[in-house]
Amino acid sequence: VCPFSAIEFPEPFSLPRVIGDKCRLCGLCYRICPQVGIVDEVRGREVKPLATYMARSTLAEVRGVAQCGGVVTTLAMYLLDRRFVDAVVSVGRDEYWRPVPKLITDKLGVLEVAGSKYTYVSVLTLLRDVVRSDAIRSVAVIGLPCHMRAIEKMRRLKLAASQKVKYLISIFCMHNFEYGVVKYIVEKFGLDIKSISKMDIKRRFIVKLVDGRVLEVPLKELDQFVRACCRSCPEFVSTIADVCVGSVGAEEGWSTVFVMSERGRGIVEDAVRDQYLEVKELPEKAMKIVAKLISMKVGSR
Ligand SMILES: Cc1cc2nc3c(=O)[nH]c(=O)nc-3n(C[C@H](O)[C@H](O)[C@H](O)COP(=O)(O)OP(=O)(O)OC[C@H]3O[C@@H](n4cnc5c(N)ncnc54)[C@H](O)[C@@H]3O)c2cc1C
Ligand code: SF4
Ligand code: SF4
Repeated sequence: VCPFSAIEFPEPFSLPRVIGDKCRLCGLCYRICPQVGIVDEVRGREVKPLATYMARSTLAEVRGVAQCGGVVTTLAMYLLDRRFVDAVVSVGRDEYWRPVPKLITDKLGVLEVAGSKYTYVSVLTLLRDVVRSDAIRSVAVIGLPCHMRAIEKMRRLKLAASQKVKYLISIFCMHNFEYGVVKYIVEKFGLDIKSISKMDIKRRFIVKLVDGRVLEVPLKELDQFVRACCRSCPEFVSTIADVCVGSVGAEEGWSTVFVMSERGRGIVEDAVRDQYLEVKELPEKAMKIVAKLISMKVGSR
């Protein structure tokens, strides 16, 4: 966002650093910060989905790699297939489980970034490349509720970085961690980091290994790695995104889907019609669990 290139990220997942003598104190970074101003606005908003579903991908290649129902990956593939967008902004990872922002233009690229990485990363830096590209006229951004808040602020300021963003797909988020969480788990169990195949949170932090072993860590033990801003973040479900997807409340292998806008309804219904996604009714019990988590986050200050 900085027009003077005064902000640097030593690593994409590090906290940003301001290069003192380059900063002209224009205040733009403050104005688009997702933790300033807009947090109070969204805290007071009722989460009112236009539709809710339990959904999963019909595509076998997605189901094999996705975090739960593969809904996010499938919607991104659908948008690219139908040329509703030219690219997708998302998060991949390297072999050390370090998150890497990715600008993706093909289905294979979307498949490669499937699955949750429990480390924060500044995906929106990629919008700079989007602005500069003539070939990319529109993008879908996949991210966390705080990424959605930053985009909303960019839109209000009519920044070029937000002008090509057509679809917003958000994942539910209770909190996220510093990269230290990965190092801690690796040291605790004496693991080769490359042997980790999946991480998940289901009451406990779950680590799956390529040899089939499953390790668990109580979330309380990892509390020291929770990002400071997550402690005061009011959003479990984004009210800004077009579609929000989580695992909580859904059956194994399915996702919980909240459709938040008419644009979101359009792509979900089209993806179902074209047999990319299958959906069923989200049970009342799941709605209650999501509602409880929403109110827990609203209460965090
Ligand atoms: C930090 C974090 C916290 C979460 N907390 C909850 C929770 O409390 N309750 C709940 O129900 N669900 C939570 N989720 C969402 C859940 O893990 C799944 O991502 C979601 O259900 C979508 O599943 P899927 O199979 O459709 O996703 P997939 O089809 O596997 O696609 C996942 C997409 O998310 C993107 N992604 C992965 N990690 C990140 C990241 N760190 N930042 C931005 N984008 C990322 C990937 O690039 C991929 O495009 C969380 C996810 C993350 C990353
Ligand atoms: S205040 Fe302006 S010049 Fe300074 S880092 Fe922020 S955006 Fe850049
Ligand atoms: S808890 Fe809020 S601030 Fe933290 S990663 Fe999730 S959406 Fe972003």
